[in-house]
Amino acid sequence: MKLGDNVILKWLNSYHYFLIFRLLVKYKLEEFQQISDTATMLKLENISIHYGDTPALSAINLEFQPNKTTILIGPSGCGKSTLLRLIAGLIKAEIGSIIVEGSTLTSENITALRHRMGYVIQEGGLFPHLTVRDNVTLMACYLSWPAIKIETRLHELAELVHITPNFFNRYPSELSGGQRQRVSLMRALMLDPDLLLLDEPLGALDPMIRFDLQQELKEIFNRLDKTVIMVTHDIAEAAFFADHIVLMRDGQLIQQGTLAELAKTPTEAFVTQFINAQRSPLAMLDKALS
Ligand code: ADP
Ligand code: MG
Repeated sequence: MKLGDNVILKWLNSYHYFLIFRLLVKYKLEEFQQISDTATMLKLENISIHYGDTPALSAINLEFQPNKTTILIGPSGCGKSTLLRLIAGLIKAEIGSIIVEGSTLTSENITALRHRMGYVIQEGGLFPHLTVRDNVTLMACYLSWPAIKIETRLHELAELVHITPNFFNRYPSELSGGQRQRVSLMRALMLDPDLLLLDEPLGALDPMIRFDLQQELKEIFNRLDKTVIMVTHDIAEAAFFADHIVLMRDGQLIQQGTLAELAKTPTEAFVTQFINAQRSPLAMLDKALS
C-alpha cells in the first residue's frame, strides 16, 4: 500500500466517524423532540378560522400541559367556544394544526383522539329524548362496552358527581339546572378521557348552586388528575380553578399566565380593563359602607 492510499483510508475513516456522529446527533435530537412533544398534552399551531369576514380565531399558538387546568376567558364573541369546538374536532381550522400528545389531528385519527376527550357544551347539551342513563352511557353502548362495565362506570360517576341512581330514569326536563350539569359531566367522563373540555359549565346556574358546584368540580379535577380546558367569562371563577389563564379578545390571544401575572404585568390596557370590569361583591360592600 502506498502512502497516498493510507491518507485516503484515514480520510475515509474520519468521514465514516463523522457520519456516525451526525446520525447519533440527529437521533438524539428527534428523541428529545418527541419527549418535549409528549410533555405537552395539546398544542395549537398558528390556528385561524373565519366566519364570512369575521375572524373567529386569528393565528392562535397555545400549549396545554398535562393534568393542569387551563381557563379560557374573554368577552362574549372572542372565540372561546370556537376554540373548544376546534379541539373537540367539531370544526376544522382553515390554517394551522392541532397536535395531541405528539400526533397531528387528521380526518383519519380524529375519531380515536375524540374518544380521549370529554366535552360539555355551553348549555350542557343533554339529549332531551334520552334518560339520564341513556345520555351518560350512549357512547359506551355505541363502542359495545360489556353491560357490567357500563353499569359499574355509571354508578361510579353518579357517586363522583352526587347524583343518586333514582335519577337514572329521568329525562333532562325533569332535572334542575345543577343536576343537568352534573349529568353532562358524567357523560363527558364516561369513557375516562385524558382531556376534559368544559364550555361555561356553570354559566346558567344561580350563585349558590354555582358556588357549591365550583367546589365540587375542583375536587373532582384534583382527584381525577385530568387535563382540563374550561371556558368562563367570570374572572373570580377563572382564578379559583386555573393553573393557567388564557385571556382572549376578537379571536386573538392577548395574554396568558396566572391571575397575579395578568394583574401585575398586563401586556396591554385591555387586560387591566377586563379584570377591573368585574366588580367583587365585597369591594362593592366596602364602598357602600364607607
Ligand atoms: P365566545 O364563546 O367567546 O362567546 P364564539 O366562539 O361562540 O365566542 O364566537 C366567536 C365569533 O364567531 C363570534 O363573532 C360569533 O358570532 C362567530 N361565530 C361562532 N360560531 C359561528 C357560526 N357557526 N357561524 C357564524 N359565525 C359564528
Ligand atoms: Mg361561548
